[in-house]
Amino acid sequence: MQFERPKQLREALALLDAQSWDILAGGTDYYPGLRDNAPTRPVLDITAIGGLRHIRRESGFWRVGALATWSDLVAADLPPAFEGLKLAAREVGSVQIQNRATIAGNICNASPAADGVPPLLTLDAEVELSSAIGIRRLALAEFITGNRATMLTPSELVTAILVPETSATGNSRFLKLGARKYLVISIAMAAVRVDSSSDGRVSDAAISVGSCSEVAKRLPALEQAIIGCSSAEACDAVNAGQLAGLVPIDDIRATADYRSAAAVELVRRALLSCIERGK
Ligand SMILES: Cc1cc2nc3c(=O)[nH]c(=O)nc-3n(C[C@H](O)[C@H](O)[C@H](O)COP(=O)(O)OP(=O)(O)OC[C@H]3O[C@@H](n4cnc5c(N)ncnc54)[C@H](O)[C@@H]3O)c2cc1C
Repeated sequence: MQFERPKQLREALALLDAQSWDILAGGTDYYPGLRDNAPTRPVLDITAIGGLRHIRRESGFWRVGALATWSDLVAADLPPAFEGLKLAAREVGSVQIQNRATIAGNICNASPAADGVPPLLTLDAEVELSSAIGIRRLALAEFITGNRATMLTPSELVTAILVPETSATGNSRFLKLGARKYLVISIAMAAVRVDSSSDGRVSDAAISVGSCSEVAKRLPALEQAIIGCSSAEACDAVNAGQLAGLVPIDDIRATADYRSAAAVELVRRALLSCIERGK
């Protein structure tokens, strides 16, 4: 089995240009995905590439490099708008997993239950894709196309997740419901980011729900409906109708009906906490 661990991004992109590889970062999705089998496809381990492990402000964006881990994110000095993403980070597996697993790996794996996706959607995150012929950028909402499906082509590597500074405003929250408190795959989750005016009313909102559709979804109608609302009015505005665009499934973790009801409650609680904190 072919295995490469390049030290330079240029080298990695040349390898990706020449043939198809399985990309390996923290390996916390990759190895469980093999089950008890050995890898059969060539593996490109990207963990030695210099310059990809950072979280910094750069040219109008907050830039989260492809090798930044969940623990790096928790430790980073970031505006309150990232609090929801930090709360999600603390829910990804255990601390050992958070020390190893990358945020980029979470979005590339594209699980419907990926904890990073709802808060990143509320931050209007974009994905930087690099290849031997150049760099392109896609909104996260366009990048993930389905359950374990993305727009990544075989010759590309995700080199960063970018959050526009214009979206890194206000306060944010993330709530996850699982069958137990810790080390659990979510039944439903909600992320909210709210800007408030001086009287404590909502002036701008971004809301998304995960684990209730193939890909986590923003709720634009609800976001509009709560503009000008107090925290109590915003909670009242959250109802099953506003979340009707979600298509939860029945599985061993929960029924579709339970997921729908849980999502409504999680969005309400996240909004209440976020708006009250912003006062
Ligand atoms: C015990 C355990 C508990 C977990 N709990 C949670 C949880 O609570 N919530 C949650 O969301 N996840 C959880 N996970 C899943 C996992 O930890 C996360 O999704 C993690 O962020 C994946 O990052 P990684 O660096 O390990 O990715 P890897 O496993 O290295 O890669 C994941 C996928 O992304 C691709 N990839 C990785 N980096 C890139 C890149 N830069 N460019 C292109 N493709 C790339 C890989 O080819 C692979 O297909 C858990 C995993 C384990 C083992």
